Amino acid sequence: MSTTVKMMLDAKGRAVETVEPDRKLLEVATVLNDRKIGAVIVAGLEGRIAGIFTERDLVRTIATHGVAALEQPVQTMMTTGVTRCREDQTVEEVMEMMTGGRFRHVPVETDGKLAGIISIGDVVKARMREVEHEAEQMKAYIAS
Ligand code: AMP
Repeated sequence: MSTTVKMMLDAKGRAVETVEPDRKLLEVATVLNDRKIGAVIVAGLEGRIAGIFTERDLVRTIATHGVAALEQPVQTMMTTGVTRCREDQTVEEVMEMMTGGRFRHVPVETDGKLAGIISIGDVVKARMREVEHEAEQMKAYIAS
């Protein structure tokens, strides 16, 4: 049986680091550093997702606009067309989203609201469990 997003969230929790759209990039960089995470979700109205801002965006911002851009609000540099997933989707589906879209974070949406986030680290962990489980089943089958 495939691991679902719901199973992954049940194991790791549903907390997501969010920031308001008017937060300065320097403050957002501090959040990423302090929390040791690679992405924040920029909050929209009523629990909705307005955008995502990751460490990749921070590097791009500084490289293309210089450090002065760190005074700009996050909404000016965030990605708005955010790919989301549902709790009933599988780890394989999320992995395909990440590979196809070339990003390492996929927020989870339930009833139009932010309900969690899956990172590439979570995907690797879940896939490793699946592969280990499959190997154990194969060994048991051969032994029987
Ligand atoms: P990442 O690999 O997650 O650091 O993101 C690489 C780029 O893709 C950055 O510009 C992010 O803003 C963007 N990005 C990250 N996650 C998503 C997503 N789920 N949907 C759309 N863009 C994303």
